[in-house]
Amino acid sequence: MHVDEFSSIHLWNGNRQGQKFQTSLGVKVGIGDDTAVISMNDVDAQYELLYTVDTMVEDIHFNARTMSFQQIGYKALAANISDIAAMGGIPLHALVAISVPATHNSLQIKEIYDGIYQCANQHGVAIVGGDTTSAPYSLTISVTLIGKVEKGRAILRSGANAQDIVFLTGVAGQSAAGLHALLHPSSFSEEHVIKSLIDAHQRPIPHLEAGRMLLQSSFCHSLNDVSDGLASELSEIAKASSVDIVIEEQLLPISESMSQYAGYCQQDMLDWILYGGEDYILVGTASVNDIGKLAAIFQNNNHSFFQIGHVESGTGQVWLESWNKQFEKMERTVVMNKGYNHFRK
Ligand code: ADP
Ligand code: MG
Repeated sequence: MHVDEFSSIHLWNGNRQGQKFQTSLGVKVGIGDDTAVISMNDVDAQYELLYTVDTMVEDIHFNARTMSFQQIGYKALAANISDIAAMGGIPLHALVAISVPATHNSLQIKEIYDGIYQCANQHGVAIVGGDTTSAPYSLTISVTLIGKVEKGRAILRSGANAQDIVFLTGVAGQSAAGLHALLHPSSFSEEHVIKSLIDAHQRPIPHLEAGRMLLQSSFCHSLNDVSDGLASELSEIAKASSVDIVIEEQLLPISESMSQYAGYCQQDMLDWILYGGEDYILVGTASVNDIGKLAAIFQNNNHSFFQIGHVESGTGQVWLESWNKQFEKMERTVVMNKGYNHFRK
């Protein structure tokens, strides 16, 4: 390692988390040696470990027009925490690998770490190490997160059953609407509307508490976080569980901000809802007999909860059921499993 690399690592990570906090998470050696040393006492026999990694690449996942450095750091860790939430788990330790092109200086990278540590401290995550390299042109941040979950209780994608109800823990599509607003500056005058959408894109809140409620209730059969868009997440559940999933269009939650802004810029909200992504809310299924109890748990905790469809026996297909006004009947269309291209337009 070069001397300046060492001082950069210190600049980015020094004095961010107290020893007491790190020790409380079983960290015996954090940043500074060849590896971190973590005591398993904290995990003990009741738990299993969860490992996940997510990478954000400049000009694919973000660019200078859409995110500040701090927001990039925050979101890089939030995306990982969301994956732990989608298993019903608790995040513990993170490693941060960063590849920096010559166009970015060490102080700008420190702002990324401001965001990383803000997110880490909000969600009780110890940063225990990382790696630093140069890059030819695009800035890349890769965060590895380790968490824990009660033994045998991780909520998988493969557990959906025919007759389950499909639920969402927030409004899908807001991040995509916010991204649209960032990429298409307009004269739309409702600033608070735009701000709430842009916030959803730049500062998504991972649904950790929701994940824990779902695990503790024992009612949740399958779960995913909405990182790539509702269509894609539901398709993963449908395929892993060998069932069909029917989204009932009239049940999809819509925020006032999203509908106002979509009306203004004449965009199809459904496109944001189904194919947007990066909302980092949770989508899952529970038995029709338990869904009311689950809704009550969420209501008691002041957390949003929406039933948006149901599961049928099938072969891994996702359907959208909507009202055909012309023929005055319900009709079904296949939901394409397409991903989202962030800078498509
Ligand atoms: P090594 O050469 O043994 O891999 P490094 O020089 O890469 O060691 O890292 C030295 C220490 O700093 C290690 O504890 C490593 O985990 C930590 N570290 C390196 N880069 C980062 C980073 N970008 N963020 C956080 N910790 C880092
Ligand atoms: Mg290294």
